[in-house]
Amino acid sequence: SSRIMLGPLVAAIDQGTSSTRFLVFNSKTAELLSHHQVEINQSFPKEGWVEEDPKEILQSVFECMDRTCEKLTQLNIDISNIKAIGVTNQRETTLVWDKDTGEPLYNAIVWLDLRTQSTVERLINKTPGRNKNHLKHKTGLPISTYFSAVKLRWLMDNVDEVHQAVISKRAMFGTIDSWIIWCLTGGKSGGVHCTDVTNASRTMLFNIHTLDWDPELCKYFDIPMEILPKVRSSSEIYGLMKSGALTGIPISGCLGDQSAALVGQMCFQDGQAKNTYGTGCFLLRNTGAKPVMSDHGLLTTVAYKLGRDKPACYALEGSVAIAGAVVRWLRDNLGIIQTSEELEKLAASVGTSYGCYFVPAFSGLYAPYWEPSARGIICGLTQFTNRSHVAFAALEAVCFQTREILDAMNQDSGIPLNQLQVDGGMTSNRLLMQLQADILCIPVVKPSMPETTALGAAMAAGAAEGVSVWSLRSEDLSEVTSEKFEPQINPEESEFRYARWKKAVEKSMNWET
Ligand code: ADP
Repeated sequence: SSRIMLGPLVAAIDQGTSSTRFLVFNSKTAELLSHHQVEINQSFPKEGWVEEDPKEILQSVFECMDRTCEKLTQLNIDISNIKAIGVTNQRETTLVWDKDTGEPLYNAIVWLDLRTQSTVERLINKTPGRNKNHLKHKTGLPISTYFSAVKLRWLMDNVDEVHQAVISKRAMFGTIDSWIIWCLTGGKSGGVHCTDVTNASRTMLFNIHTLDWDPELCKYFDIPMEILPKVRSSSEIYGLMKSGALTGIPISGCLGDQSAALVGQMCFQDGQAKNTYGTGCFLLRNTGAKPVMSDHGLLTTVAYKLGRDKPACYALEGSVAIAGAVVRWLRDNLGIIQTSEELEKLAASVGTSYGCYFVPAFSGLYAPYWEPSARGIICGLTQFTNRSHVAFAALEAVCFQTREILDAMNQDSGIPLNQLQVDGGMTSNRLLMQLQADILCIPVVKPSMPETTALGAAMAAGAAEGVSVWSLRSEDLSEVTSEKFEPQINPEESEFRYARWKKAVEKSMNWET
């Protein structure tokens, strides 16, 4: 059969908290040609603990690659057109493996995990004035359970295999990007141990001004620097695929998922922003070449550095721990839905929470509060309340949390956003999108191609020096078609509900005392 002629293709591995995907794009049109997705198991061995199996993650990457290549072949597309592969990943999730055996020494500790809460409290208590922002001038981050350094500290203190491997210089630390790239470029027989500036900026060991590991920070957390990966830009050839159907293809893009979404949404200008609704919810606003420090509980993070000789670009970030995770919780823990998609119908059947508010502070509260001791609450219940109202309240919770970080972002920058660009798995929920526009009182704009995170990673990979099949010049970027949700309720109604939400948040932070 005849093969379809296409321009160069670029692939992306998108390793998220809830699933892994492999996607193949046409570099000339940004069109998604084929993809495959596999859900990832999460384990909750103790209250507050969240782990994933690094080998399952790796297997899921191989499975998605194989299946996508099969689908392309069925479409008569020659996989030799794939010129580069980008990697994007759940950020902060931490693992340590043995470089001689190639084996992980413990499960990956997922970013949401709370096991380090007491360590974090101890560290904060030791700082002058009990200041959680003690390291912010270097890292852009508050001391929190969220970031990798404390998770790595926990592994070194509590897992004997990790402790031993560090002493005998066999230990390699990495976030999920490093693990995947090391394995795909050869693993124990010569794999490349690297990460990119965006992932590194979420560890608390990285100085966002010098763009390198910081000896003082490493000393603060007592982390030996030799176990850290080499920090590279987000767009350059790190190494070549060493096995499978794509052997020999360069891996040449690497971005944390939220950075990748910012790139995929083409937010290259100072002031442009996007909000991604996945397991958590992350609003990033490009602040250009300068790191801007927030006065309102936002993080400062490296947005991207698209080439070895290109400047780094920074972002202000509002991170919400629980967004889609609340949907998964309603499915897996309460069983009130069988699939995530069912939630929309259930919530739409009532069209209101009937005064019920649900603060899903399962992992404490992130931005703008950074309160690890907060816990989830559902309040405002009456005899009349049913599961549909709770479902509705869960969707509203995602919107209210976004409102809080958008308000913080607007206060920090002084220039309010007049619309919100969105993406992520939850944005297929149209009720959520409408509620979001209603609660923000600004339009919500969703691109018709929802896989923005993967697109960003593919763009970085395709633009890398030595690959150069994807131009990132603004005049070469293809027009994005999108759908717009306009606010439909009056602002007073919206303010009233938001004020109630704030009361519920107060309770989630203080209900224990
Ligand atoms: P991640 O990148 O964190 O793995 P995704 O962007 O893939 O997340 O989004 C998956 C999340 O979105 C899951 O938590 C899932 O429960 C939620 N989700 C997916 N579809 C819907 C839907 N139609 N309504 C509500 N939530 C949804």
